[in-house]
Amino acid sequence: MTIGGFQPLSLVDYPGKTCAIVFTQGCPFRCPYCHNPELIPVHPAGGSERSGVALARHSGIPDTNDILEYIAAHKSMLDGVCITGGEPTIQVGLLPFLKQIKDLGLLVKLDTNGIHPKVVTRAIEEGVVDYFAMDLKHRWEKYQEIVRSGGEKVVELCRRTFGLIQSSGIPHEFRTTVAPGIHGIDDFFEMVSYLKDGESYFIQETAFTKTLDPALSRHTGFFVPDLAADLQAAFPRCHIQVR
Ligand code: SF4
Repeated sequence: MTIGGFQPLSLVDYPGKTCAIVFTQGCPFRCPYCHNPELIPVHPAGGSERSGVALARHSGIPDTNDILEYIAAHKSMLDGVCITGGEPTIQVGLLPFLKQIKDLGLLVKLDTNGIHPKVVTRAIEEGVVDYFAMDLKHRWEKYQEIVRSGGEKVVELCRRTFGLIQSSGIPHEFRTTVAPGIHGIDDFFEMVSYLKDGESYFIQETAFTKTLDPALSRHTGFFVPDLAADLQAAFPRCHIQVR
């Protein structure tokens, strides 16, 4: 696996749990609002000299052995580990890594953009994920307006992953980052219509401190908390929140 960064402790990235965060390097998508664009290239710029969280013997980005050693030594303060990106499912070695975390007695949360349904299938079958968080980038027919990569094949792969997670029986959430000037109110009503009763959906506002597309509009044309309230009223059996 190629690691892009490591955060030893987070109180907000695994619902109701404390976790460490592993950032993997590389993502095939080009979402205009991406706030971690340095994690998109398959190979990190500057290699190990890039800044990262230094662990005990390590001054740059740690490798998987460093991370496993760290979380084993600090697991009394952790409920789990969140694997995010970039896109974790493109990593060779992801599933064995998740298994090693599970073997330490910790929970695993996997964030994915949905590009690899086969990897998600194996993760479900092998029981190495306790919580999935999948990005729902847009209504399916407009998906490419956000991901900007791979054509309709990619959209079909994401749809398969979405269905796999929905039927997995594993706790999960879907979330959409608002892309100003691209998403309209109707798009959110369409996306929430994909959810099943009881599922959780988060609307996230773009972090404008850093975006892949520096020209991305800052004007959504709607007030996100009001949108969330309207969605909740229209879909009372789902759990809809702004994050
Ligand atoms: S899927 Fe995530 S990491 Fe990849 S470009 Fe989009 S926002 Fe960035």
